[in-house]
Amino acid sequence: MESSRSKCSLLRCDEIDAVYVEPFILSGYRRPGLSWWQCIKHAFVLHNDVGNFWTHFIPFLLWVWWLVAISVSEENFFQPYNYPLLCFWFGACSYALFSSLAHMFACKSFLVHTTCFIFDYLGIAMYALGANIGSLFYVSATSSPLLQNRTWVIWTEAMVAVTGFLTCSLSRFYWKKYRFVVRVGSYAIPYFFGVGPYAHRQALCIFYGTDCVPQTFYFHMAAIVFANLLAFFFVTKIPERFFPGKFDYFFQSHQLFHVCAACLTSVQMYYTPMEMAIRRTVLIEVPGGQPTWQTTFLPFVCALMLGVGMTGCLGYLTYAGVLTTNKNDERKNK
Ligand SMILES: [Zn+2]
Repeated sequence: MESSRSKCSLLRCDEIDAVYVEPFILSGYRRPGLSWWQCIKHAFVLHNDVGNFWTHFIPFLLWVWWLVAISVSEENFFQPYNYPLLCFWFGACSYALFSSLAHMFACKSFLVHTTCFIFDYLGIAMYALGANIGSLFYVSATSSPLLQNRTWVIWTEAMVAVTGFLTCSLSRFYWKKYRFVVRVGSYAIPYFFGVGPYAHRQALCIFYGTDCVPQTFYFHMAAIVFANLLAFFFVTKIPERFFPGKFDYFFQSHQLFHVCAACLTSVQMYYTPMEMAIRRTVLIEVPGGQPTWQTTFLPFVCALMLGVGMTGCLGYLTYAGVLTTNKNDERKNK
């Protein structure tokens, strides 16, 4: 009964403010102005954002369980060697949780909608940074100059992640025509920081036969495929671009983007412990190869705090009316 009543009260895209409208999604919008509790209850009601909530909330729960499982199975789990893994895990859970909450509360109000999605971008930035710290310490070739200059590299990566987050957040207010390209581009540089150590190691393996880890090759390839697929769905808005209104509830590009992101992270969670176990004895021999809290948690937490501060500033500027969405311009042009 609750379900059918709620579904009947769903709105079409021309019945609500442009702020809440997604391209090529024509129906299934919740009525803006719901209470916090009503937003939570709508996680169990069919509407056009419910799939976006569950495609990140279920992975979040699975990844929490994953960490609990591996931390109890290993004695002395919270040792320095595992710090990069913990940064990666924390970043992954941040983006999945922030994304779920953003899609859950997106219809609350313009301010909540905007602030939640800026937190969503912060989660992605923290995930990129955490994954890159993991990639640097566990995946780099033993002769990698990145590893030898790890302090500089990690702080640069932290700054790049925060800059990407800020650019991505500003795309909600500026660059309306290219906002999806800007959002993907914001994380392109952090992505190359993550893939770089593996590309270098693989090149050494091919040309010199050193640092080869064939056991994880296909997992790295799968991760690259998922990373490209998620960018593809995010930018192109396929399939709903060609069939507006037909994918309002299921299989819209944003859900496919979420699924690809969850698959990418899950593959990383699978191969990272493999890399750690296989290469442990080699990496311990590398001068300075042992992670410390100064080269893992410190830059990670500093970037997080900076990002939270920026989110607060952007939220306040939105509340004060200084920043307004670029979507209103889009409707005027239609
Ligand atoms: Zn999303």
